[in-house]
Amino acid sequence: MERLKGKTVIVTGGASGIGHACAQRLSQEGAWVRIVDRTSDAAVSAATALGPHVTFCVADVRDEASWSTLISDVVAEREGLDVLVNAAGIFMRGSEHNPETTTLEDWRAIHAVNMEGVFLGCKHAIPAMRESGGGSIINISSVAGLRASAHSAAYGASKAGVWQYSKSVAHHCARRGYGIRCNSIHPGSIDTPMGQHAMMGVAATLEEGRERYRQGIPLKTIGEPDDIAHAVVYLASDESKYVTGQGLTVDGGVMMA
Ligand code: NAP
Repeated sequence: MERLKGKTVIVTGGASGIGHACAQRLSQEGAWVRIVDRTSDAAVSAATALGPHVTFCVADVRDEASWSTLISDVVAEREGLDVLVNAAGIFMRGSEHNPETTTLEDWRAIHAVNMEGVFLGCKHAIPAMRESGGGSIINISSVAGLRASAHSAAYGASKAGVWQYSKSVAHHCARRGYGIRCNSIHPGSIDTPMGQHAMMGVAATLEEGRERYRQGIPLKTIGEPDDIAHAVVYLASDESKYVTGQGLTVDGGVMMA
């Protein structure tokens, strides 16, 4: 099926984990995709592995000038922009990242990528999508943005910010009649380098950590990057044309229990 045929898509954090799975699934559905990531080797090999309709750009989502160049390059090449997936993110875990011990430096580092990166992406994508007649922005938040996270307080706050900000973008664009939708996705534990880092933070080995996480999930399984990518394909496609300002939780049932 080609549910995204002809669409032009940007995926940040597309060299790894969830972003990479999104780039793959979106291109399989017919989209032209530009992967954005901060490491050139990773971005090159990720894009090359996904075929001719996936290209890459090395950029840091914290840098506003890079966003400006990225969006104008894509618009010049593709005559528009239809979808932005903000998946780039960083995580820090451990007792040193509770509200008493988080350093100001760490707080700012987390928010610069997870929150400001999303803010800048939306800010620069909106005018390009408006010119294209509309679009869909999908921001990857987390269940950590929906519930308390004592040991990763800055991360949780940044992801709660992404959730709230996504609703502001959705409301703004709807009120102005831009035809741009904006939604957030809230993954639970997903088996990626970041997810494994989190699992290792609660046990001596990855396998032990994975088992501890698994026991806390009602569906008793760790999520795969494709579980998130499937949700992204839906929100990117016209099948979700009446959906905006929503937070879609994909977490094996964690938030219901
Ligand atoms: P991942 O495998 O670590 O991938 C994140 C990618 O973003 C990496 O390639 C990373 O590059 C890149 N990145 C980080 N900072 C960047 C920056 N300033 N500019 C450009 N690219 C940057 O992590 P993931 O698990 O796929 O996470 C993707 C998103 O899902 C994140 O927003 C994360 O918070 C969210 N999420 C993940 C989980 C989970 O369990 N995995 C759960 C909930 C939410 P480097 O490798 O160089 O850092």
